[in-house]
Amino acid sequence: MKGIVYDFTIPKYLAAKAFGKHFPSLYYGKPSALSLSHVEEPTLPNERWLKVKPIYAGVCGSDMGAIFYKTSPSITPFNSFPSILGHEVVGIVTEVGNDVTEVEVGQRITLDPYITCEVRGLKSPCPACRKGLHSLCRYKSGTDTFGPGMILGFCKDLPGGWSESLVVHESMAIPVPDTISDKVAAMSEPLSVGLHAVLRQPPKSGEHVLVIGGGMIAYAVIAAIHLLEIDCHITQLSLLQYQREMGLKLGANNGLTSRKELEDTLLKMPETSRHKPALGRDIFVGGYDAVYDCIGSKESLDDALRMARERGKVTLVGCAGEIKKLDWTFVWANELTVLGTHAYSKKETWEGITTSTQELLFELIEQHPDYPLEQLVTHEYPLEDYREAITANLDRGKYQSVKTLFRI
Ligand SMILES: [Zn+2]
Ligand SMILES: [Zn+2]
Repeated sequence: MKGIVYDFTIPKYLAAKAFGKHFPSLYYGKPSALSLSHVEEPTLPNERWLKVKPIYAGVCGSDMGAIFYKTSPSITPFNSFPSILGHEVVGIVTEVGNDVTEVEVGQRITLDPYITCEVRGLKSPCPACRKGLHSLCRYKSGTDTFGPGMILGFCKDLPGGWSESLVVHESMAIPVPDTISDKVAAMSEPLSVGLHAVLRQPPKSGEHVLVIGGGMIAYAVIAAIHLLEIDCHITQLSLLQYQREMGLKLGANNGLTSRKELEDTLLKMPETSRHKPALGRDIFVGGYDAVYDCIGSKESLDDALRMARERGKVTLVGCAGEIKKLDWTFVWANELTVLGTHAYSKKETWEGITTSTQELLFELIEQHPDYPLEQLVTHEYPLEDYREAITANLDRGKYQSVKTLFRI
């Protein structure tokens, strides 16, 4: 079968780091770690597994991070290569093991790609998995069954969805309701990231919320606030005009595309003021009740900490890595609550009901059939055109891309 293989090696990494700026092919061309290859179709590891033929598989920021070597070295103990990328998948079940009880051949499913204690076949699960916090599993560094890997696509023993077939443990399969389209189902993984982030630190009704970012996760946060019907005022800060328009379509009340606009808007809020420090950027008193940083860069974190009001809530949804010279003064001086969020959970609670983030997401989407989630899919390509798919994610201004899918 065909699959997009990512084969990280130190020489390839060094060559790309040294010359990649001038020779992008070192990242995703012939000499890079990435290739469309013929690989052997995977077989069921045991009777609790099933086989899936992907319909769509998404390109995620974390895939781009791996391809362009931007992933923090702190994550490297929890990945293993070569691997077939792809963890945002909707597909059809083509085979089930004898002990699979919840899923049938022919069923349409999406995946929870986390390689948990249950997936690894451990008899006694780790403390995180016991609590339903499976995305924080303590065995991500590998076990006898499978090598290091937090999720499908980044584990050498379990191919991901940028391929014609993959195997998943029964606990990873999430049936898709008939009313939900393939494209929306293909985005359930990143949409769940946004939903989980909002549920971890929800804004209150009437609050002013700032969402920083113009990528899929920022829209997932805006969508989550909308789907949960939290009646607050949302401002999105992005870079480009099309990103602003997409936010407004999804229910943001205000779209800004520059720091100046952000500062001016903040000053229109009651009892806010601007001050000149001895050095550096202006300081603001007052600000947003809740900020969701969906980027994780020095600039976005700086904005998030500065734009939150006293005792404001700052939620980190973007994959922040090493940040140099960030001024943390605001965290203690304003008693901010800064909260990290990662992926999603098997035990999400909303309005007294406890369920997995993805199942709650599907329920909420079904309750809001007219909400225009599908337009987040801006590009689709066959696997063969993977270089174009990557370019579409790289040159966002030209392609105006949000979510790119492989159509398999
Ligand atoms: Zn992802
Ligand atoms: Zn675990």
